[in-house]
Amino acid sequence: AKADGRGRWAVFDPVRSARDRAKSALATALPAALERDELVLEYQPIVATGDRRLIAVEALVRWQHPQLGRLGPDRFIALAEETGLIVDLGERVLATACADASRWLAEFPDARLRVSVNLAARQASEAALVGKVAAVLKRTGLPAELLQLELTESAVMATTGEPLRSLRRLAALGVRLAIDDFGTGYSNLAYLRRLPIHSLKLAGAFVEGIRGDDPVSRVDERIVDALVRLAHALNLSVTAEAVETRHQADRLSALGCDTGQGRFYGPPQEAGGITALLRGAAGV
Ligand code: C2E
Ligand code: CA
Ligand code: CA
Repeated sequence: AKADGRGRWAVFDPVRSARDRAKSALATALPAALERDELVLEYQPIVATGDRRLIAVEALVRWQHPQLGRLGPDRFIALAEETGLIVDLGERVLATACADASRWLAEFPDARLRVSVNLAARQASEAALVGKVAAVLKRTGLPAELLQLELTESAVMATTGEPLRSLRRLAALGVRLAIDDFGTGYSNLAYLRRLPIHSLKLAGAFVEGIRGDDPVSRVDERIVDALVRLAHALNLSVTAEAVETRHQADRLSALGCDTGQGRFYGPPQEAGGITALLRGAAGV
């Protein structure tokens, strides 16, 4: 055991300390990784639950680490948020996603594929946000309507006053706003009145519960049913996340979810995979 400096004694835990060391090694390497362009995007299809038409894709960042291979965002996004690097990282993601979406629009104009980009709380609170987004749209030529920004409920709750105005200005530009992981954050819905939201993404936890004819499943279906009604009453569209089975896809479609995302419809994949999907849909 050793003292932690505040007069308390902590038990030395070798597993924990190895994990902490690995974590801080990643934190140290992240800024250089950003410079070396080691961050890559994968895109996951978001499809209409009715006819399976490809409506949008969500950009999901990965770190192509030279030694460790492709790391998921759960390994480094929180670190980037702690260090503030998330602002630069998020800008790169936004720029790449808009450039890819602009290419898809040029090649498949009829598809009008939207791209949905995750926005961290720090980015949402940044005074420069609107200017940055507008500049990326201008530079890439992507129409604002084809960009959607996803914010979690906690990111929205952390955003008050001036930043809230900047989200309104983004919406005024035509950018769509979506609430990510809806139903898992604060159950305070006041922000739905204060913000021009376009869509709600139902947290995977509710979808996961839809498994069959057991009581838990029936409760989760009722929750989804109620949330879809709430969303539609407010003129919002609803996306179900983490759709993994045909049963879930069928139930979600019956419950009126507009779009779905998950392994059942297609995994996150590199831009080329989405281009191939669009080519297939266009009958080329
Ligand atoms: P999220 O926004 O909720 O993203 C959806 C996550 O669900 C993704 O995990 C996706 O790969 C995963 N997923 C896809 N299909 C299924 C399925 O059928 N079942 C289940 N259970 N999960 C599925 P991923 O890619 O590991 O991303 C994790 C989180 O990292 C994201 O959660 C998002 O919060 C964050 N993230 C990813 N990219 C960015 C980014 O560019 N900026 C910021 N700020 N956060 C990001
Ligand atoms: Ca998301
Ligand atoms: Ca989500």
